[in-house]
Amino acid sequence: MDTRRLIVFGGVIAAIFIGMTFFSPKLQPIPTSKETKPVVSVSTFSLLEAAHAVAGDAIDLHTIVPLGSDAHMFSPNPTQVAELSKSVLFVYNGAGFETWAEGLKNTLPKTIQILDMSQHVALEKGGEEHHDEASDDEHTHHHGMYDPHYWLDIDNMIKMTQTLDGEFSKLAPIKAEQFHKNAATYIAELEKLKSEYTTGLAECKNRTLISNHDAFGYLTHANKLENVSVIGLSSDEQPSAQTVSHIVELIKEHGMKTIFFEELINDNVSQTIARETGARAVPLQPLENISEDELKSHQTYLSIMRENLKKLREAMECR
Ligand SMILES: [Zn+2]
Ligand SMILES: [Zn+2]
Repeated sequence: MDTRRLIVFGGVIAAIFIGMTFFSPKLQPIPTSKETKPVVSVSTFSLLEAAHAVAGDAIDLHTIVPLGSDAHMFSPNPTQVAELSKSVLFVYNGAGFETWAEGLKNTLPKTIQILDMSQHVALEKGGEEHHDEASDDEHTHHHGMYDPHYWLDIDNMIKMTQTLDGEFSKLAPIKAEQFHKNAATYIAELEKLKSEYTTGLAECKNRTLISNHDAFGYLTHANKLENVSVIGLSSDEQPSAQTVSHIVELIKEHGMKTIFFEELINDNVSQTIARETGARAVPLQPLENISEDELKSHQTYLSIMRENLKKLREAMECR
């Protein structure tokens, strides 16, 4: 064997060794991405959107309340609780929105961190325009003293995003820089949406929003609108006859042309009022949840809020 042949032979042997080192699956097990991703559960849609905006695909995100259901009426079954127990972090809205979450907190394994988002936003008291004086005696406020629909104030959506950025950065410090960057991008989008609301609702013929369910207190307050609702902060309340006739009077008196209702809850009352007054009943999305159709058509908090703004501008005859 001459030297040249020896070098070629040696090279082949070396190549085989290098090849084994690089390509043998047993030497460097590649972890599946699922194993390295922290699992985080959130209760509802606006939390999911903010969480997804911050995390991208670096966190395995789950929502608890199923698509298309009335989030006020939801309570998890044992399978959903078991699913929830696999997460390292559980985020819920709080402020009485998920009555089930308060009870669940004590039964979940101690390894799960629990984040009550209402502790990190600016809360407002509800019920100022609660037109239910007539039935005060039997009326129970199982929703607590604060209005839980705080994500409809865009400033709160920004606070939610910042809070999730902080929490996720603690869960996966190696991704913190990416989370900060993602959060900043999403917050810039929210700021843009906020200024669209400010200019879009600056000059309007009427500034009263009438809705079936009292979900829009934050949205109206942030935009200097009046808010009148037929039922209270929780969607399972039944309006009294007096409440309904009071609202009918109000609509006629102010010549209002639109009453808003929430699609995912019973809208009989709004339809009745619309018939009696000749006003149009128009759906307004409080973003407690979204429907399967909305998800399939890639609707987001941002796009639905823009759709809501368009409807408000039309109803209030804004310039
Ligand atoms: Zn609600
Ligand atoms: Zn109430």
